[in-house]
Amino acid sequence: MLYKRSSQLFAEAEKVIPGGVNSPVRAFKAVGGTPIFVKSAKGAYLYDEDGNRLIDYINSWGPMILGHAFEPVVQAVIEKAKLGTSFGMPTELETQIAALAVSMVPNIDKIRFVNSGTEACMSAVRLARGFTKRDKIIKFAGCYHGHSDSFLIQAGSGAITFGSPNSPGVTAGTAKDTLLARYNDLENVKALIEANINEIAAIIVEPVAGNMGCIPPNKGFLEGLRQLCTDNGILLIFDEVMTGFRLARGGVQELFNITADIVCFGKVIGGGLPVGAFAAREEIMNYLAPLGPVYQAGTLSGNPLAMAAGLAMLQSLDSDRAIFQRLEEKTAYLGAGIDKVLKANNVAFTINRIGSMISVHFDAAPVVDFQTAAKGDNETFKKFFHGLLEEGIYIAPSAYETWFITDALTYDDLDFTIRSIDKVSKTF
Ligand SMILES: *Cc1c(COP(=O)(O)O)cnc(C)c1O
Repeated sequence: MLYKRSSQLFAEAEKVIPGGVNSPVRAFKAVGGTPIFVKSAKGAYLYDEDGNRLIDYINSWGPMILGHAFEPVVQAVIEKAKLGTSFGMPTELETQIAALAVSMVPNIDKIRFVNSGTEACMSAVRLARGFTKRDKIIKFAGCYHGHSDSFLIQAGSGAITFGSPNSPGVTAGTAKDTLLARYNDLENVKALIEANINEIAAIIVEPVAGNMGCIPPNKGFLEGLRQLCTDNGILLIFDEVMTGFRLARGGVQELFNITADIVCFGKVIGGGLPVGAFAAREEIMNYLAPLGPVYQAGTLSGNPLAMAAGLAMLQSLDSDRAIFQRLEEKTAYLGAGIDKVLKANNVAFTINRIGSMISVHFDAAPVVDFQTAAKGDNETFKKFFHGLLEEGIYIAPSAYETWFITDALTYDDLDFTIRSIDKVSKTF
């Protein structure tokens, strides 16, 4: 395939945008080569600036669960745009999407809309700190909660008790309030709580991890977190920015029947426009300004275009009761096909999958946390990535990303993908 115009556009972008991209995950740093510039997309396909068609397994990193340029969302946005795009005043639309979200997700009474998943997680933690009057939080190595300071902390070898900043610009003062734990390791969490009695405001977790590849929780892990939180006056925050409205109508709370205290949303809830949200029971949400003392605000929060797109998306998911089952079946079919061809070609791999999230790790051992995810063979991944690209299949340019399955994918697309993986894995 030819990427001539993409390469030219990237060279121009690099002159005026750091690294040529507005979010680092779009760069091809881990795989080599230059990013592909998209011209348009429809359904399961991307069309790039060189005229190539690519089957898309990223789907804007999650939001396009029903495919690109999904008609009800596009129509809703066009209609609203004609009536003004932002007022900084309340609209009926905000109440409509809030009421629908509250009706779909268990254990939440009120929801507030923001402009990104980052904002949602950042605000959820501030709310938890204000509500509990405690400072510290526990997060898990390999879980991503957006790019705000408290979350840019990663486990260095010795840094289990006190986090060390992994991005310059995050102060030591901020880092010391973020405690790091290993995903799927309850004993580790228990030890952190015991060493910081009455100091921990919240445990924030991706209830199904998706930012170190897909890593589902071990049996009992989320139940254990719930119990530890309840026993110690800690709020349990489910970061469902990736999993919300994707793994089930009500997200992971519904899927595993576990109650979180605060839930964060993003991605699907905005239907492809910039939207995040956080939600909780009334007692907690009423702690927010203007009712309560915890301040949080946004000039464009709840703007009509974003809310129209989000509402159209949630309505489509709400009215299609077979959607999550259908997505699961497609993903299972793809997973089984990949498993078969990689085995036949003697590749060392592990496939993790739940609902419409799936990832292929190039290591034979089980992938259960950040440490095991990091063992994947990146050289193999590079060949895999570029081989698939040549076939017209686009996966994320990083071995640590989940693939997002969209309802727009046909079984022909899936079969083509499996055949392509067979072909590419013969070249490893
Ligand atoms: C994508 C993501 C975020 C950040 O959302 P943005 O909209 O990119 O700020 C937070 N948490 C999780 C789990 C995510 O996958």
